[in-house]
Amino acid sequence: SGHIQVRDLNIGFKANGATVQAVKSASLDVQAGEFVSLIGPSGCGKSTLMNAVAGFTPPDSGVAMLDGKRIDGPGSDRGVVFQQYSLFPWMTVRKNVEFGLKMAHMPPSQRETQARTLLGLAGLLAFENHYPSQLSGGMKQRVGIVRALATSPQVLLMDEPFGALDSQTRTVMQEILTNMWQRLRLSVLFITHDIEEAIFLSDRIYVMTARPGRIKAEIKVPLPRP
Ligand code: ADP
Ligand code: ADP
Repeated sequence: SGHIQVRDLNIGFKANGATVQAVKSASLDVQAGEFVSLIGPSGCGKSTLMNAVAGFTPPDSGVAMLDGKRIDGPGSDRGVVFQQYSLFPWMTVRKNVEFGLKMAHMPPSQRETQARTLLGLAGLLAFENHYPSQLSGGMKQRVGIVRALATSPQVLLMDEPFGALDSQTRTVMQEILTNMWQRLRLSVLFITHDIEEAIFLSDRIYVMTARPGRIKAEIKVPLPRP
């Protein structure tokens, strides 16, 4: 499971009486367990498309589906990571991860076990009692990823997650993400404007163009994984 299907998706925004067509007739697939990137220039509609898959933005027409079921709102079957870390500053690293599990009604003893397992996978166990302000940007984003994975989603949606990081930290994060993805075998839809990042991480890449936001090309990454 974890098959994303987007079919003939159209999303527009009204601004000053005019409509900006953010996504135009977009279709894409992420197969179960596949890592797919979405690249394209700033403002071409990548976030809008992903927000439809996350269930944050309803389409004007067309459909986003998960395992054949129409997506009509957010759900714990889809973890989301944004460029901003959006951790709660008053909670420790572990409490941040446990927060989503609490919302998903997991009992406290199981929450702690699940959070510590995932923090271990991300190399963060030694920092479980730290507060976000005590962590570097890369580590904060690792916590963000762990938090998105806490409810064991089938799908991970990532919108420029490493966009705020310096290039050295970015490279480290790409490797950590690849390792976690290989261990967890979940489907990933990943937004970036960095083609090298997309090639390193992905099985396939969709290329979007601006005004209106269309999917113009699909690239199968031919490179064997390191
Ligand atoms: P990208 O993620 O590729 O940078 P976005 O999906 O954020 O592109 O934006 C696509 C277009 O839709 C842009 O022209 C943007 O200004 C517009 N847009 C996005 N969100 C909104 C919104 N909530 N209200 C009005 N316009 C929006
Ligand atoms: P636990 O039951 O796992 O010990 P707590 O109830 O002690 O969790 O809450 C942990 C932290 O989460 C506390 O700092 C608390 O203020 C914060 N918290 C709990 N519920 C909310 C909420 N709905 N919104 C924001 N913060 C919350």
